Amino acid sequence: MSREQQAVARARKAFETGRSKSLEYRILQLKNLQRLFTERQSAVSDAIKKDLNKSEVGTQLYETLGLEGELSLAIKKLKEWAAPRPVEKNLMTISDTVYVKPEPLGVVLIIGAWNYPWAVTIQPLIGAIAAGNAAVVKPSEVCVHTAKAMEDLLPLYIDKELYPVVTGGVPETQELLRQRFDHIFYTGNSMVGKLIMEAAAKHLTPVTLELGGKSPCYIDKDCDLSIACRRVAWGKYTNCGQTCIAPDYILCEPSIQDRVIEEVTKSIKEFYTDNPKTCPDYGRIINQRHFKRIMNMLEDSTIAEGGDNDESDSFIAPTILRDVKPEAKVMQEEIFGPLLPILPVNGLDEAIKFINKGEKPLALYVFSSDKKVIKRMTDETSSGGLLANDCLVHYSVSSLPFGGVGNSGMGCYHGKFSFDQLSHLRSCLIKQLKMEGVNSMRYPPHTLKKLGW
Ligand code: NAD
Repeated sequence: MSREQQAVARARKAFETGRSKSLEYRILQLKNLQRLFTERQSAVSDAIKKDLNKSEVGTQLYETLGLEGELSLAIKKLKEWAAPRPVEKNLMTISDTVYVKPEPLGVVLIIGAWNYPWAVTIQPLIGAIAAGNAAVVKPSEVCVHTAKAMEDLLPLYIDKELYPVVTGGVPETQELLRQRFDHIFYTGNSMVGKLIMEAAAKHLTPVTLELGGKSPCYIDKDCDLSIACRRVAWGKYTNCGQTCIAPDYILCEPSIQDRVIEEVTKSIKEFYTDNPKTCPDYGRIINQRHFKRIMNMLEDSTIAEGGDNDESDSFIAPTILRDVKPEAKVMQEEIFGPLLPILPVNGLDEAIKFINKGEKPLALYVFSSDKKVIKRMTDETSSGGLLANDCLVHYSVSSLPFGGVGNSGMGCYHGKFSFDQLSHLRSCLIKQLKMEGVNSMRYPPHTLKKLGW
């Protein structure tokens, strides 16, 4: 038996003991996870610093604070989420007990990505534990130090039989995917998402796919450009652009392009000084492969700001590209790096048309002081999430479902949505063995007389 097979078999055996079903046990595991993030904050931050050059405060802000919030919420609300949910009845079932009962699915496979490695791996795990499942956790191998930290730390805090960590790259993940799971929760790019779905289909395993894509950002000329551009610069250059919901590119009218460049540049300097390379708040590209991929995208575009780079340090400066054409290299795939192309368009109609020609994105941003512009963007486009006059922050709202649509993914999570996503919502109807007379009309022979017609 391979290491992966053994981990899955052990998790299933542990699930079959029934211990993960007890609400007390689930809460205990969630509290243990909470303890991990309090007691091991520096180990968590150190690993991310080595992988992505994130500062300790940055790690707390963008990774662990959110996890702590999700953990507290799940601990507080678990009894309510797991309780039977009574539903409306019809005439035939008026005296019955009719409800939805959330029940665990079984063994869940969680495959994480590298860009916010704790957030995108542990957040689904919180949902899996809360919903009473066993879960095999496969962190991204790209984040070498964080994957190792997860492998070392998780077994010290949570049930290692129920929630084993399996490290490794493509061959190990493929071996895992040959096993039978009751749900697969994958975060990563859309191309691999298709492979995950294909593997899952062999066992009819349901999937949640948290994917990416090119998230557009329309800046209307009727808006405070200084505020809008500061928020866009924050959304774009945080984690060096390696954020699934980063604004990928800007659409705006040609008349405001220069102002947008000027204001985004001002914010870059405000956030990261004149020399981002030495600024502790500016990250690095995860590895050489991604460095080369991003640098290749620059080939046929005009740099308005930035462009400095250093391969030996995986550094690419915050960069703005002007007058970018839809055919440019940078517009052919998700950038996932610190390049911000500006595509001039002649107003809202053209922006909407352009957005609707592409795949449905994970996030869509619109900046405007005009409510009608925001309403039209909301009504006439589709995306996983929509945010007006800010970037990224919808991710932090546990009461909003987080997920994609179409090419940006399927299923959603965060807060109660994670619990529901990883539960089977079982329909239950409990009838008494009485009042048989009421049922007579449904039994043959079917006559009009029985129906009283
Ligand atoms: P990655 O390279 O870490 O891959 C993700 C996972 O897939 C890893 O665990 C990896 O081992 C596994 N994997 C890779 N190739 C595989 C294969 N051929 N077969 C089986 N498994 C395989 O991460 P990535 O894909 O570079 O992540 C970046 C992408 O993820 C971006 O598109 C980004 O937008 C998206 N993303 C989405 C979210 C979200 O919440 N929707 C969050 C973070 C990242």
